[in-house]
Amino acid sequence: MTDVMRLTELYAPTLKEDPADAEIASHRLLVRAGMIRKVASGVYTYLPLGMRVLAKIEAIVREEMNATGAQEILMPALQPAELWHESGRWNDYGPELMRLNDRHDHGFCLGPTHEELITALVRNELRSYRQLPTTLYQIQSKFRDEIRPRFGLLRSREFIMKDAYSFHSSQESLQETYDVMSKAYGNICERCGLDYRPVEADSGQIGGSVTCEFMALADAGEAELVYCPDCDFAANTEAGACCAHPTEYEASAMEKIETPGVASIAELAEFLHIEESATVKAMVGKDADGKVVALFIPGDHELNEIKAGRVIEGFELLTDDEIKDAGLPKGSIGPVGLPEGIRVIADESLKAVSRWVVGANEAGYHYVGACQGSDFTVDQWADLSVVKAGDTCPHCGAVLEGARGIEVSQVFQLGDKYSKAMGAVYSAEDGSDQPFIMGCYGVGVSRTLAAIVEQHNDEYGIQWPLAVAPAHVCVIPLNVGDDEVYPVAERIAQNLANDGFEVVIDDRDERPGFKFADADLIGWPLQIVVGKRGLKEGTVELKRRSTGEKQDVALATLSEAMSAFRRFKRNNAR
Ligand code: ATP
Ligand code: MG
Repeated sequence: MTDVMRLTELYAPTLKEDPADAEIASHRLLVRAGMIRKVASGVYTYLPLGMRVLAKIEAIVREEMNATGAQEILMPALQPAELWHESGRWNDYGPELMRLNDRHDHGFCLGPTHEELITALVRNELRSYRQLPTTLYQIQSKFRDEIRPRFGLLRSREFIMKDAYSFHSSQESLQETYDVMSKAYGNICERCGLDYRPVEADSGQIGGSVTCEFMALADAGEAELVYCPDCDFAANTEAGACCAHPTEYEASAMEKIETPGVASIAELAEFLHIEESATVKAMVGKDADGKVVALFIPGDHELNEIKAGRVIEGFELLTDDEIKDAGLPKGSIGPVGLPEGIRVIADESLKAVSRWVVGANEAGYHYVGACQGSDFTVDQWADLSVVKAGDTCPHCGAVLEGARGIEVSQVFQLGDKYSKAMGAVYSAEDGSDQPFIMGCYGVGVSRTLAAIVEQHNDEYGIQWPLAVAPAHVCVIPLNVGDDEVYPVAERIAQNLANDGFEVVIDDRDERPGFKFADADLIGWPLQIVVGKRGLKEGTVELKRRSTGEKQDVALATLSEAMSAFRRFKRNNAR
């Protein structure tokens, strides 16, 4: 038998006003509903109701992790600098790493992630290939000195993460665990009630890393993604392969046109009365040796600098001064008649376009109908553009749609990056020492909590999915002083608790309107209103928070009416 929680005894201070710094629903509502409190920028306390939700999310994460065979451990947040020196990340990580010294002047950091610690843990203990694969995980506070902490729990400086690390003797074994983890991550999102998409976070750099982000779809999300309505392709626009379809410019010969005052693609398209997709955008950068490279992409797209960096080692865009020094007229740059020695790299999608509308390398002039192959040549073709809605799906050819998302989790094939740097080896079947092949997998537990609210709210408050709600049912007696009403409400609450529901009773001596508003703000999935008038007819009112649907239920059939939700509760469990 579980106890009924009483609102008079619960530390759940709700607020009428929105916090001044809250820009998005989840931040606003979690504070107003008395679930979290701000301590400092990006640092929060979880109050009892917030804790209950957190515990449920953690329980789901634990069940899913344990089901994969991963074993739970707990590492310290405080990590010695030496380990970070070994991996090279003490220098590479930058100002996000929270660094401190102890009284003996030894360097430490507060862990933003735990690859160093876990690699140091296993390197002396997992010795034989027979012990592999092994996966360890923890649920723990992480610290990142984010440049812009915001959106409450979505981007904070101290947050709760589930991080798992797997150790393997082969790429095949890593792939197997990676697939199992990806499945578990999908289950976690689903069981938390999230509308989500697994998205490509890296286009598969040769010899590079394989990774997938799990995005909760939400306008408040900081990530931009594209997804295919017809197949399962979805990608972070930072990473996704781009198949643009630029428009061909109809011309029989190249013509130089005076374009006074035209400095942008939008102005050029307007000036010529053509689509931006019929123009070609020039970007100029340099490689690691400082050699200038000219990049050309469809006019309606943006350059993806990460992709450029894969084609050109040490890629950096030129500053306006550097462009001038290279003898190039910003706003009128093109592939025809470039200064000697400038390499021309163009987006693959432009291969199919024979006549380009481009700058003439002379201020105030452009070419229309510049012919690829005769008027100019391209030295190299590459995927250079940021993918966007309207582009072609690289898997099936359908038209991609766009959305915004909150990255709630990510799975990653690390390879031997950390094991090699930190000398973590096992002895292989042939007796030789080999570095572990590793995977790592992170769920933002506190971010997931906020993402759930971001997807489940309305103008009145939170609409918790049953599986993660701070309690399933709130019983609301309209008048606690009435000795006909209150004892009935108590009995209903106790019976439901005996039936396995988590029940809270609003036993506060407050006006009905005040209690209803609080119940909707906190977002109990089911509300049972017990009032004098209803009881005269032998009924109470059952309300579903998610739909607002209300129904008068005879006291005698209440348990039956509630059994539908009991079934749902069971189904949603593993
Ligand atoms: P982001 O790109 O949003 O900064 P990340 O890719 O750096 O996140 P990871 O290193 O992949 O984050 O960490 C694993 C998970 O931890 C993320 O998927 C996210 O859910 C969560 N997380 C990361 N940074 C934060 C933060 N500042 N506040 C809350 N959760 C975070
Ligand atoms: Mg990530």
